[in-house]
Amino acid sequence: MKEPDASTGTALAGGELIRLEGVTKRFGTNTVLDDLNFSVEPGKHVTLIGPSGSGKTTILRLLMTLAKPDEGTITVDGQRLFPAPEKQVREVRKKIGMVFQQFNLFPNMSVLRNITEAPVRVLGLPKDEAEARARELLDLVGLADKCDAKPTRLSGGQQQRVAIARALAMRPQVLLLDEVTSALDPELVAGVLDLLRDIARSTDITMLCVTHEMGFARDISDQVLMFDAGRVIESGSPEKIFGDPEQERTREFISAVL
Ligand code: ADP
Repeated sequence: MKEPDASTGTALAGGELIRLEGVTKRFGTNTVLDDLNFSVEPGKHVTLIGPSGSGKTTILRLLMTLAKPDEGTITVDGQRLFPAPEKQVREVRKKIGMVFQQFNLFPNMSVLRNITEAPVRVLGLPKDEAEARARELLDLVGLADKCDAKPTRLSGGQQQRVAIARALAMRPQVLLLDEVTSALDPELVAGVLDLLRDIARSTDITMLCVTHEMGFARDISDQVLMFDAGRVIESGSPEKIFGDPEQERTREFISAVL
């Protein structure tokens, strides 16, 4: 099968789940994404690396519809996410889940309710069904005994596990992971990364992952995109990007973070 071509976003054998074409995003005079083109095939794990401020998180936020591009198109599973009518955006949005650096759990709700809230309200799942699924997911993330706890009583690592369970509860086709271990105490990082490795191995969810954890990126990625100043300057397999990058900028970045 042909490798996804991050620089041109040309049509791919095997179809595409996500496609960005000519995506430009500006904040005032600051162009943070500059005519970006890339596509992701279903089930693939794509890691976004590059210096701070190069636009990686902004891409995830555009896909999550937390921000809008100034130019370009975004397509997910054959349907336009941008530009698109509001009703369509809501439908496409259901296919995408996100886990944030700062967990973003609802502090006043129990762990169980954090996970059932969106499936009940957004998907219209019956409450008992949503709860049964939430308990399964809590078991998966190793927190079966924390259903009734408030998130503030949990460690950062446990809160992030709840956030992962919450994202999975919507049965997304795409999971966006935004530096999910950056806010954790160092001793909690490995456990969360192991959980994500398991999820990457055992599900067919397409993942887009912004991370500074290069070992993790190397393990889970089918493809690595190297960003600099709002552009993909290089893309390829983890072996290529970490072992024998073409761009000097990539080489410098990797040796600085390793
Ligand atoms: P990265 O994830 O690679 O660190 P970001 O996507 O977070 O980069 O940010 C890219 C650029 O966009 C940075 O210069 C950042 O300051 C700017 N930026 C991001 N969000 C906003 C915002 N809401 N308002 C103004 N500037 C922003």
